[in-house]
Amino acid sequence: MPSGVQAETKTYQIFINGQWTDSASKKTFPVYDPSTEEVIAQVPDCRSEDVNRAVTAAKAAFEDGPWATTTAQERGRVLFRLAEKVRANLPALAELECRNSGKPIVEAEFDMNDAATCFEYYGGLATKVMGYVNPVPDNAMSLSLKEPVGVAGQIIPWNYPLLMAAWKLAPAVAAGCTCVLKPAEQTPLTALELARYFADCGLPPGVVNIVTGLGETCGAPLVQHPDVNKIAFTGSAAVGKIIVQQAADTVKRVTLELGGKSPNIFFADADFEAAIDGALFGVFINQGEVCSAGSRILVQKSIYKNFIEAMTEKAKKIKLGPPLERETKMGPLVSKEQYDRVNEYLALGKKEAKLASGGSRPEKIATGYYVQPTIFYDVNNSARIAREEIFGPVAAVIPFEDERDALKIANDSPYGLAAAVWTRDIFKAMRAVRALRSGVVWVNHMQPTYVEAPWGGYKQSGFGRELGPGGIEEYLETKQVFINLNEQPIGWY
Ligand code: ADP
Ligand code: MG
Repeated sequence: MPSGVQAETKTYQIFINGQWTDSASKKTFPVYDPSTEEVIAQVPDCRSEDVNRAVTAAKAAFEDGPWATTTAQERGRVLFRLAEKVRANLPALAELECRNSGKPIVEAEFDMNDAATCFEYYGGLATKVMGYVNPVPDNAMSLSLKEPVGVAGQIIPWNYPLLMAAWKLAPAVAAGCTCVLKPAEQTPLTALELARYFADCGLPPGVVNIVTGLGETCGAPLVQHPDVNKIAFTGSAAVGKIIVQQAADTVKRVTLELGGKSPNIFFADADFEAAIDGALFGVFINQGEVCSAGSRILVQKSIYKNFIEAMTEKAKKIKLGPPLERETKMGPLVSKEQYDRVNEYLALGKKEAKLASGGSRPEKIATGYYVQPTIFYDVNNSARIAREEIFGPVAAVIPFEDERDALKIANDSPYGLAAAVWTRDIFKAMRAVRALRSGVVWVNHMQPTYVEAPWGGYKQSGFGRELGPGGIEEYLETKQVFINLNEQPIGWY
């Protein structure tokens, strides 16, 4: 089937070695629109044999294909062209992302743009990878060469489908690696659409392969495959732990981005209006399906009551509705499974804390996996709704006494992905920046993420950093080269 008809037929194929193909079993599974609960596509249900095919193609492309001798300049240009394609097809990609994930169209457009920017950034960085001359004694010359790590297995989540694909593919391609990407089973469509551009962009067959399937039957064989040199994973902490264990057998390089329970800290001296906005944006953007969601909202006691009132009032006005409508600020959750999971936490929250607003599905919307923006308050930091990642529009508001108290509560979490602090006191802000044990700290904002700056977590939020100049390092090996400048024999024996 020519690739151009993929979207229209709604039955997708996978992309291996530059070809569209079915899974070996020819089995497929359904993909949904979470706002209508209807099936919008079928995608191949890939198993080990399909993963093997994809890895074989990636390995061959790495070792023997034109990619093996490609220059950094060529790899950079491939990525620039890919960015251009994403921008040229932005409305269609955003619409597909919106329908498949349930995220509001305006946010989907933003994500597509971000994905293109990520390809551009690493397109530029491809030619800036440099080795070193090491300062060994004068009778030798010692070099550190940077080389691609090889075949990268990349497993991504459903909250930012195309953007996560870009975060993974861009640095890998820039580094000269080859890839097998497995999108989340809930949201595989935009990654498959992206593959339609590869040939035009000058990406040789086998360099990027895309397989669709479930975690245990398609993701796990990728993690275990002996010819995969590195796994880059973004997803739940539970699966991250399994991946580390499964990668151990073949001593794969692993990078993990596992989400969190990020504190958003509001001191009494913060700009009140900006603070309320920041608290809502931090936790409800993308329906709260964000690894860095500011889901623990720490508020100083002297403003606590007013803060909850103002936040509740504003939360009630957030417009839920069909994600394709431009006024919509919150769409449905991504899947039935996620909807059920979040509802369990709503029930739990009602036992563990007090409910200020939300707490159920919106009355006026009959279909779709919608959940109201929900605010629990008087939450104890040891409650499960304050410790476990919910990945939905659920805020846990926690009061604190003073700075010391705030920082202690903020750091009292198994996670450490992100944190934010709101205050007009620069000294207090900087003390918090130092004290917070997390990979990202925002001051007087929450969530902006730029490809130019590193992203990743402390503690159980994972290890390794994506984005920024360090992002490409995760796809590079360092080779030490020693050149003897001494013409005499070694003279030991
Ligand atoms: P969620 O539970 O919210 O779906 P997951 O961490 O399960 O989050 O999913 C993130 C990604 O990890 C998805 O692409 C999923 O298919 C994949 N995945 C899930 N389980 C495994 C596993 N055992 N091995 C490899 N990949 C997995
Ligand atoms: Mg899962």
